[in-house]
Amino acid sequence: MLTYPRLGNDAEHLSVESFGWTLRIVLLGPPGAGKGTQAIRLAGRFGVPHVATGEIFREHLRRGSPLGRMVERYMDLGELVPDDLVIDIVSERLLEPDCRHGFVLDGFPRSVPQALALTRSLEELGAPLDAAVSLEVEEDELFGRLAGRGRADDTAQTIRTRLRVFANSNGPMLRYYQQRGLLVRVDGVGDLDLITERLVARLEGRLAHLPAGHRPEVVPLEPTGGR
Ligand code: AMP
Repeated sequence: MLTYPRLGNDAEHLSVESFGWTLRIVLLGPPGAGKGTQAIRLAGRFGVPHVATGEIFREHLRRGSPLGRMVERYMDLGELVPDDLVIDIVSERLLEPDCRHGFVLDGFPRSVPQALALTRSLEELGAPLDAAVSLEVEEDELFGRLAGRGRADDTAQTIRTRLRVFANSNGPMLRYYQQRGLLVRVDGVGDLDLITERLVARLEGRLAHLPAGHRPEVVPLEPTGGR
């Protein structure tokens, strides 16, 4: 029986058999690709939590926690927070009971070492990834989108840094997931609802081989007017 061993006494109710199906994905893509929006929608459609490392860090910043103070300068510069900090945060988060059906991970991994650490943590849990989805948008389009977003860490200089950091790490990460047979590339340009449908269809396609009862039920689309 597959269990979440590090949860001690809680492990029993998290056994894979007791919850039937799972959807565990990472959503990759450059800053400004609409990853956050699509990650939230996918999480809602598949009924799994949206786990966003950037959001977790921003929450710590707001609270002024010790972790918040540690990550502040990296975030202000648009640089990556050190791997060990991020890896610990994610590994802990994925052990929480709401992740037992899976998760949509957004903003992690951002490097091959992070991807390797995620693979190892999930292997320990007996809960491997179903897919690494790459949401793809041309770089020319990204700068304008980011500059219009108004987030505190979206100044011209940090935007340039974040795009450069992404460009350096993305290729090796995509190759890593390609080699593991997990990579799903999806065009991230166009109407937001259409992109969501594209993502849902590709994920359903990947899960189609699973027996009935082991596939997540997808919540139908609510019209949003293409927000
Ligand atoms: P995001 O909201 O995903 O754009 O993340 C905002 C900032 O948080 C990034 O610019 C990084 O400084 C930090 N951050 C978020 N996720 C990671 C990660 N996986 N590895 C390193 N730093 C991260």
